[in-house]
Amino acid sequence: MKRTPPDILTIDVEEWFHGHNYLEHVPPGSWEIQDRRVEANTERCLELLARHAVTGTFFVLGWTAERHPDIVRRIAAAGHEIACHSMGHPIVFRLTPQEFRDDLKRCREVLAAAGVDHVAGYRAPSFTITPPVHDYLHILREEGFTYDCSLFPVHHPRYGQPASPRHPFLLAPPDEDPCPERDPLLVLPMTTARILGVNVPFAGGGYMRLLPGWAYGMLRRIALRQGQSVVTYLHPWELDDHKPVTTQSKAMRWRSQSGQETVMEKLDGVLAQGSFRTMGDYAAGLRVDGLRSMALPLV
Ligand SMILES: [Zn+2]
Repeated sequence: MKRTPPDILTIDVEEWFHGHNYLEHVPPGSWEIQDRRVEANTERCLELLARHAVTGTFFVLGWTAERHPDIVRRIAAAGHEIACHSMGHPIVFRLTPQEFRDDLKRCREVLAAAGVDHVAGYRAPSFTITPPVHDYLHILREEGFTYDCSLFPVHHPRYGQPASPRHPFLLAPPDEDPCPERDPLLVLPMTTARILGVNVPFAGGGYMRLLPGWAYGMLRRIALRQGQSVVTYLHPWELDDHKPVTTQSKAMRWRSQSGQETVMEKLDGVLAQGSFRTMGDYAAGLRVDGLRSMALPLV
């Protein structure tokens, strides 16, 4: 029997300055002296989820977990899934394979130090597992991850691969498989609504900030009808009305900060209407149902 696709709420647990839109304006060398707001904002997320009895998946940045292990413990204690969002928020396609592997290992260690031993999922910062580093998906499996949420089948200046699959699939292992005992990696592309032949993204915090609530709801219904699970992804700072002053251009500031004050109310509406599961539960169910297998390259 075909299952109804669920809604899945995912939170990338990082500070406001970790977004790549801030890279030039708040460089990594200055992160330690910035105003930290992730703890209070993650609490706001947890309170909202508790009010709706929704469990979500929190892709935690190792940098944050190392400085605020209590947040990781509070998320886990509330019954949510903890997944990995890298250690230092790199642009993955700029890393060598060894640097990518090292970053994964460090994040795992930091999460383990905070008490989280089981980490199945990964999401690349800004979805930057793109060609020519598609084969880094094999490294995820070698490092013990069982699912990935880094592919986004859309046009975007920094990421995206519009012709890649929209639906979940199992990634066929490489010909010379270094870990034949492991199951194939389950790849869960980010949600799109397909309209007039174009994959339309809508389920991220930026879209939630900038789109009116009715537009978000309409695109969500289209995606569900097309068999897509609706994976909403947000950052704790998007629930904050703090708008830092940086050297960003006016246009970039609008893109990075606009509409934050509307997100709590919109998210409240989304949580009230969906049927939510964690990404890990959804992934386990898909494996039971059986999925097609695909090899790299994907397009
Ligand atoms: Zn991120």
